[in-house]
Amino acid sequence: MPGSPRRLADPLDRLLGPRTAAPLAKLGLHTVGDLLRHYPRRYATPGRLTDLTSVAVGEHVTVMAEVRQATVRTMRSRGGAMLQARVSDGRRDLSLTFFAKRVGVLQNHERKLVPGRVGLFTGTVGAYRGELQLTHPDYVIVGLDADDEAAAMVQASRPIPIYPASAAVPTWRIARAVRTVLDPLLPEEMPDPVPAPVRARHGLRSAHATLHDVHLPVTDDDWRRGRRSLRFEEAFVLQAALARRRALVAAQDAVARPGVPGAAGILHAFDERLPFALTAGQREVGRQISQDLAAPRPMQRLLQGEVGSGKTVVALRAMLQVVDSGGQAALLAPTEVLASQHLRTLRLLLGELAEEGMLGAAERATRVVLLTGSQSAAARREALLAAASGAAGIVVGTHALLGETVQFADLGLVVVDEQHRFGVEQRDALRAKAGTTPHLLVMTATPIPRTVAMTVFGDLEVSTLTEVPAGRAGVTTHVVPAGKAAWLERTWRRVREEVDAGHRVYVVCPRISADDADRAAGDDADLVAEATGGAGEPDGDDDSLLPVLPVSPGLPDDRERRPLRAVDEVAAELAAMPVLAGVEVGVLHGRLPASEKEDVMNRFAAGQVQVLVSTTVVEVGVDVPAATVMVVLDADRFGLSQLHQLRGRVGRGSAPGLCLLVSDAPEGTDAATRVRTLAETTDGFRLASVDLELRREGDVLGASQSGGASSLRMLRVVRDAELIAQAREDAVALVAEDPDLSEWPVLRDAIELWLDPQREEFLDRS
Ligand code: ADP
Ligand code: MG
Repeated sequence: MPGSPRRLADPLDRLLGPRTAAPLAKLGLHTVGDLLRHYPRRYATPGRLTDLTSVAVGEHVTVMAEVRQATVRTMRSRGGAMLQARVSDGRRDLSLTFFAKRVGVLQNHERKLVPGRVGLFTGTVGAYRGELQLTHPDYVIVGLDADDEAAAMVQASRPIPIYPASAAVPTWRIARAVRTVLDPLLPEEMPDPVPAPVRARHGLRSAHATLHDVHLPVTDDDWRRGRRSLRFEEAFVLQAALARRRALVAAQDAVARPGVPGAAGILHAFDERLPFALTAGQREVGRQISQDLAAPRPMQRLLQGEVGSGKTVVALRAMLQVVDSGGQAALLAPTEVLASQHLRTLRLLLGELAEEGMLGAAERATRVVLLTGSQSAAARREALLAAASGAAGIVVGTHALLGETVQFADLGLVVVDEQHRFGVEQRDALRAKAGTTPHLLVMTATPIPRTVAMTVFGDLEVSTLTEVPAGRAGVTTHVVPAGKAAWLERTWRRVREEVDAGHRVYVVCPRISADDADRAAGDDADLVAEATGGAGEPDGDDDSLLPVLPVSPGLPDDRERRPLRAVDEVAAELAAMPVLAGVEVGVLHGRLPASEKEDVMNRFAAGQVQVLVSTTVVEVGVDVPAATVMVVLDADRFGLSQLHQLRGRVGRGSAPGLCLLVSDAPEGTDAATRVRTLAETTDGFRLASVDLELRREGDVLGASQSGGASSLRMLRVVRDAELIAQAREDAVALVAEDPDLSEWPVLRDAIELWLDPQREEFLDRS
């Protein structure tokens, strides 16, 4: 269809003139396509006034309200004149203020703002002497500005689209611009990414008709139908993109790694020496992975499992199957602490099976080496050699594994632990280290609701471990009000009791040092952390960007900005506390040298250090079974999933765990809700759902780019679960039939748009 894409790409200034186009450009709307995809945020019903109680200071709003009163007066002190008006929804008032040099200008407003008249008012909400107010709002009065878009719609009693707008361009001007470009747009100029058969199956109208439904609805049913259609379209394009990505990798060759039959291999020897029986889930998932590895196509599997469900053993068994097949496996961890712990764990589990080349090694042994950025040059050289020569069957490491100097003799499997810290580039960089695409196993302990998994990990097959090994005593969780001295005292007394019983205690703080700037100050501190946490940062930066949440996103929270608790400060306080006399307090955070981190973890595991004050470095994967208490200070500053992870560090042995969340978040704030929810449930999947509801959609998808050309506009990953599942089914079927989408060029183009670089990042980060 020649010409049609050009039409959507037409610049707005040519069509609308620079004066109209300039403020639209400030909203990121440059082309016809941009404008048509700028969907109304909501729809006002003519005659129904906006509920003004939902209006908040600082927001740019458009409200329908009734004029109550308007008076002009001159200002003796400052000179000039002022008009003050009051509009109302019948319950709450909003005051409007206009200033002018001359009274005449204001009298024009006064003539329009007659009590009893209804209008649409738009502006940024301010507060003055406890009242909500709009200063110099833009407005249209019903019945007066009859030639105006909004007023005309009010007259016609149609739903009025309310667009995301700005001070420079009110919603009705956006509406008029939309109409200007939409009216002459012919159906064939509006390409339809969802193929006709799929549309028909789901009763969806064409893309062209859908635009009319959302932008120019005649009834409420119209825009509802239009929105559903847009959501389906988004879900479909995304799922098709994922299905295609999956198909592309699946079409690549991989070396089959079937292991060795019978009792001959290292895997068998390992199973023999395992001190516990595998859970049913571990066996089942192990079978799936074993089959994947035996096939000449690259495995692409996500293993998600509750905290403590025993993913490491599953991964190790997969690695051993590859070693048995003559290949090597790489285990990639997000932090140095976790990488060294993995090394320790694997060596411990393997015992003499990990002592290849040493005296007294088992017959079928291999070597496990560690590669991190901060190890000594000699250690690194030795590890590099072992990887390149093939002497090491298993290489454990951090981002350093991705370095250019790292070579493998025959890399057959890449295991990525705690995937949410790794982006697609890292995965691809590791893949590139093998002659043929290696098998890939991604592990995450962040439980993901099904449709989110479909949306974010749609290119991976998902295995889930739901049960935790028997014999775990579990964890009890309590919220401790930070302001109550008696409660805090009780907390530290309890810590003492646990230490006396031979147990270990974590104390987690949101900051490293009392001298650090308050990291929670930036509103997007958590997003920044997500966005950069895995993006090729050097090693050792485990917590350099603590994912600390702003004070209660969502609800207003007038708490005094007390500095957040810091590791060094808290460690000093605890060491000086009489109730903890004689207790060894250690400190762990990302700024310590690697050797020191390793040392303190070792001493904590061994019991020489009994209380470990740390940052969220211990969040993922750290496994010290003797640890029974997790105290989280300023707990409300952490995300739900993060708190769940922290809690998962205790109650791993036979002694019951205790998690104490210290917080002074006022009741009713999102922050308080997060903390309370965690205290109420230990079900990771439930928590993940609540977490999603509490966060904005963009955060869920790690998309600070929400608003960019390719972000999710309409789709809600939780609420639209059903629709996503349907779209996935259709998309998978379509891609299976026509992997190149040669019959569906519009869909292919839409996918390309989704899969621009920024998009790819989004797809691979949870
Ligand atoms: P996660 O899934 O959170 O990564 P880990 O792999 O660290 O969990 O396992 C947690 C602990 O449970 C480890 O100490 C591990 O040795 C132990 N474990 C794993 N599988 C079993 C099992 N089947 N029975 C008993 N303990 C197990
Ligand atoms: Mg783990």
